[in-house]
Amino acid sequence: MNLFIATRNPGKLDEIRAILDLPGLDLVSCADIPGLAEVVEDGETLEQNAVKKAVELARASGLWALADDTGLEVDALDGAPGVISARYAGDPPDAGANMALLLKELRGIDDRRARFRTVIALSSPCGDARALDGVCEGSIATERSGNLGFGYDPIFRPAGYRETFAELSADVKNRISHRALALQHARSAWRDLLLTPTTE
Ligand code: IMP
Repeated sequence: MNLFIATRNPGKLDEIRAILDLPGLDLVSCADIPGLAEVVEDGETLEQNAVKKAVELARASGLWALADDTGLEVDALDGAPGVISARYAGDPPDAGANMALLLKELRGIDDRRARFRTVIALSSPCGDARALDGVCEGSIATERSGNLGFGYDPIFRPAGYRETFAELSADVKNRISHRALALQHARSAWRDLLLTPTTE
């Protein structure tokens, strides 16, 4: 079966390929189907965005499609930046400005608890979708440390580690991250569906 992966990010595609290594499952990416329109991520939740991307791209490609959306949820900020994590400090997305704004909002606040959440959605070619998530609990540091990874990695300390994501190797991050957990969850929950898909 061909499964369309709704990402233009080669790193994400490699990560998905490494975890969804099911026999007979061929992953097709945006690079394989040129001309597909960009999906506008205007949902109010991560799930709405992931489902919207999966459904629109499944319908456009005629294939089963998998899409994800990730956000950083900070308890002291009632779950912000959440669904607007990429553009927290405005458009265009700027990881440095996002981190600076988050550190400013949390200045003087002791409760630093936070989590990354990834929602993955799978849609059939006719738009029947299901979604599930993966969560990595942790806390927000008071300053940036490390230069690996991307996004909020220099200020996110996963639970059980003294280092930030930006100080941990890709191997460690890829074992404990929200995205890896969501993908492992997807692999076991949807294994039968991906191996013997129905037409719906
Ligand atoms: P996306 O849905 O994967 O595009 O993620 C949305 C935004 O969340 C990104 O632009 C980053 O700011 C942030 N983000 C997602 N995953 C990570 C991660 O693993 N580390 C740090 N930031 C992330």
